[in-house]
Amino acid sequence: MSTKSRQTIYGGPLMGAKIRAEGARKRAAEATREADRAEAEAWSLQMEAFGGPAQPSPTIGQCINGGLGWLEVECNRCKTRASLPLGDVRRPRDTPIWKLEAALKCRSCKKGRSAPPVHMIKLTETREIAPYKWVHPSEEG
Ligand SMILES: [Zn+2]
Repeated sequence: MSTKSRQTIYGGPLMGAKIRAEGARKRAAEATREADRAEAEAWSLQMEAFGGPAQPSPTIGQCINGGLGWLEVECNRCKTRASLPLGDVRRPRDTPIWKLEAALKCRSCKKGRSAPPVHMIKLTETREIAPYKWVHPSEEG
């Protein structure tokens, strides 16, 4: 069979299969994003409405992929709130976000290595509060 006749016979179905594969992959990615968003939203609503439980929680990567890339936290002592960009957190993307709580410290209440605990409020799509008063988890090990 010549190359030309092979192309005539297989060219169309081959192209069709490639397009179907690409389409299915795109739909799968969209479905994952939807699931990630729903999971992040459910966790956020639970935190905001009931104050927890924080575990289990979605991962950093799931929150970002779902479009909720900001974590709002509050200092237990001075009640200062801050929004932190999850995209800047230097932790593996599969880290559950409840694990960040222990690493977060309020700059104005921090004394040396010790600081009062903070708690997570909710996830948001955009920054709602300036984060300058806060020690970012990436600043300390
Ligand atoms: Zn504080």
